Amino acid sequence: MPHGVKVQVLSSAPLSQYFQRTVLEKDDYGLQFWSKDNFLIEDGLVKVNFGSKPSLLEIVEEAKQNRLDAPLLIRFPHLIEKQMDKLYTTFHEIMKAEEYDGKFQAVFPLKVNQYSGFLEEFQKISPKHNYGFEAGSKAELLLAIAINENKSPITVNGFKDPELVEIAFLASEIGHEITLIIESLPELEYIFEVAKSFRIVPNIGIRIRLYSYGSGTWAKSGGMDSKFGLTATELIRAFSKLQEKKFLHFFTMIHFHIGSQINSIYTVKKAIREVGNIYAELRKLGATKLESIDLGGGLAVDYGQHKQSRDKNYTTEEFVSNIVKLLKEIALQKSVKVPNIYTEFGRFVSANHAVLIAEAIELFSQDYTEENLISKSKNPKIAKLLKKIYKKIDICNSHDSILELLHETVEHLDSIETLFELGYLNLQDRANIEILGQMIIKKILKKIDRSEIIEYEDTAILHKIEERYLLNISIFQSMPDFWGLEQNFPIVPIHHLEKKAVRPASIWDITCDSDGEIEFDENAPLFLHDIDLEEEEYYLAFFLVGAYQDILGMKHNLFDRPDEVIVNIDENGFKISEIKKSRNIFEILDSVGFSKSRVSSLLRKQIEKRRGVWKKFEKYLTGGNYLRFE
Ligand SMILES: *Cc1c(COP(=O)(O)O)cnc(C)c1O
Repeated sequence: MPHGVKVQVLSSAPLSQYFQRTVLEKDDYGLQFWSKDNFLIEDGLVKVNFGSKPSLLEIVEEAKQNRLDAPLLIRFPHLIEKQMDKLYTTFHEIMKAEEYDGKFQAVFPLKVNQYSGFLEEFQKISPKHNYGFEAGSKAELLLAIAINENKSPITVNGFKDPELVEIAFLASEIGHEITLIIESLPELEYIFEVAKSFRIVPNIGIRIRLYSYGSGTWAKSGGMDSKFGLTATELIRAFSKLQEKKFLHFFTMIHFHIGSQINSIYTVKKAIREVGNIYAELRKLGATKLESIDLGGGLAVDYGQHKQSRDKNYTTEEFVSNIVKLLKEIALQKSVKVPNIYTEFGRFVSANHAVLIAEAIELFSQDYTEENLISKSKNPKIAKLLKKIYKKIDICNSHDSILELLHETVEHLDSIETLFELGYLNLQDRANIEILGQMIIKKILKKIDRSEIIEYEDTAILHKIEERYLLNISIFQSMPDFWGLEQNFPIVPIHHLEKKAVRPASIWDITCDSDGEIEFDENAPLFLHDIDLEEEEYYLAFFLVGAYQDILGMKHNLFDRPDEVIVNIDENGFKISEIKKSRNIFEILDSVGFSKSRVSSLLRKQIEKRRGVWKKFEKYLTGGNYLRFE
């Protein structure tokens, strides 16, 4: 959006030129940037671009039949499958074209989403590719072993104690293909120690500390000052140790992870050159069983809804092709065999499968209607002026003069604070002026295209005319990365899209925390519809919430996980195959250490014999915490 194009330009520009530029901007909410053809807008609705193409609204309505309510988390297994296929196809095709004589193997890093709603669907699809798991803690490893019935490969990262090492050995003993990746030299000692009581030793991998590191928010995982991995000196010591203990033939893999959401292809290429050379050097030193490089995660997801907010400068094809070509080149140069390639992409595989539906329950300006004006015998001058403007809009037909009225209105609204403080306005006047101001803004926005405002105005005006949408969700629970990392998720109304969205929008959640707000950002503006919530519903969808958000979500204000459905789609329609109702208040309180019986007895003591009160309390304790308006 051009900054600094101010009002003066407008008034001096000839009208003809002005109207020529009035191109109606389509409300596609940046689908072309983030949706990867997974969703489309048709007949005013957001539809899933798969099979029978159901609309999200139909799915929400069906969920309501099942006594579920917004906030609602919808999981689409076909989108997990799409990502898995995409990853395998891309690697296989490029490896084939490059005559790359190594294997490709993907594992899913459990830390990205351990919820059964996701993992069980993942497991239904994964045998197709022998897709494996990456575990980073004892609990994750035990979970990986438990659900991995097809015995696909498991890599184990993270800091380890002898217990975790023993779990890995036990898994090997029952037939799992485990690679224990050490993060430090002492971990190697645990392996030697634990191995004494086992017949089978898992594969051993070493995490390398690269000079290269990622770029962007998550860059900390790589580089010499990162928390993880062995330096060159430590690597050589580990190598000698493995030799000395006659464990070298278990050493099969080197691993690195330069950070999540890698935004630049240069970073990837640099890291691959470094790790490719380390691999070749180790093989030359005599690591004959070293056959694989595990590239970690980091393949980025496009979250941006605007051209200017791109998250990466590469395509999946470019990413993969660079990896394959560089590794082949280095292997040729140093006369070693090409490594097998393991990846641990989490965000790429899981982000797009989940959509959060939230309902708008209040608009900030919804009471600002003519009926609410307080009639007075004497009105202040500013109220009279605003009334005049309100009437004048009807007879105004040129955009210039309408914008002029908008400027006047904003100026008047700016002055009410001072006038009120100085005592020129009383509370009733102030309320009336606020109402008139909003009435004017709404009327003007109906008459002109919002792109007029975006193109020609100082962007500050967008804030003046913004609407606040109160949504029945907790950002802390459902989009914690927005709170923690200012990570944006695409936001789209799932219906009403046949109408123009006119209001610059900011979003409030129902927590009592001022951080529970997605402010209007003039550099990535969100426009929503002017809706009368008394008359109609308004649902918004938040996309790409399938990676990290499920597990990082927190119970701020005791808002727990929303209702959840799994939706399978085919050519004939869609089916809600599984329903997970959100926890009731008894259960939520239990999760913070107040058991049902304790809460009940504490309450009953106060209620004494008033049974009616207890009945009511019990009803609410067995209900949910999100807002209800039945
Ligand atoms: C977090 C992590 C991943 C996943 O990263 P994504 O950006 O989600 O692909 C993979 N491997 C390791 C070691 C990690 O710590």
